[in-house]
Amino acid sequence: MDAANPIDLEALRAEVQACRACPLCDGRIQTVFGDGNPAARVLVVGEAPGKNEDEQGIPFVGKAGQNLNRLLEIAGLEREDIFIANVLKCRPPGNRDPRPEEIQACAPFLRQQTRSINPEFIVTLGNFATKFILKTEVGITRLHGKLHQAGRFKVFPIYHPAAAIYDRSKMAALEDDFVTLGQLLGTVPQNPPAPAATEG
Ligand code: SF4
Repeated sequence: MDAANPIDLEALRAEVQACRACPLCDGRIQTVFGDGNPAARVLVVGEAPGKNEDEQGIPFVGKAGQNLNRLLEIAGLEREDIFIANVLKCRPPGNRDPRPEEIQACAPFLRQQTRSINPEFIVTLGNFATKFILKTEVGITRLHGKLHQAGRFKVFPIYHPAAAIYDRSKMAALEDDFVTLGQLLGTVPQNPPAPAATEG
């Protein structure tokens, strides 16, 4: 964050609430700015709000939220430790994929959130967030679970937790990646403790 020009997250939230920069404003119940610790070490970036998020104004609620909370626990983290935001702040109709022009219109908000929070790690969930943050066309299948760098930020891509709902084989990869994230953060031991020796 530029000390001479700090970005006030609450002022930015109000700006997002009033935004009509792309057609998604017409279908939203409300904007979903983001939620969590404004000084978090870890910024988690998802794709876009779904139905529950649009109704409640908070990212990753309902079943998706429970799933994410369980995965965060594997990394030794709680929701209060992180800040979570999406690339898009308004719900695409029928949860369709974000369009390039919508991402372009909404991107300044995520950039300003990132500057304000100034995290050490950015965890990108799924293809859209990963491609946006790493400015790459390489897919999540090749990038997940490895540490990358974007400017001064360490970037750690992970499959979107929703992907595991439709493809159960992704759940093991998701869980492994959250263990690795915890190890990188120092919130999970590098090696599991050796089993206690049994006598006899
Ligand atoms: S998605 Fe982003 S750019 Fe589009 S209206 Fe919502 S806040 Fe504005």
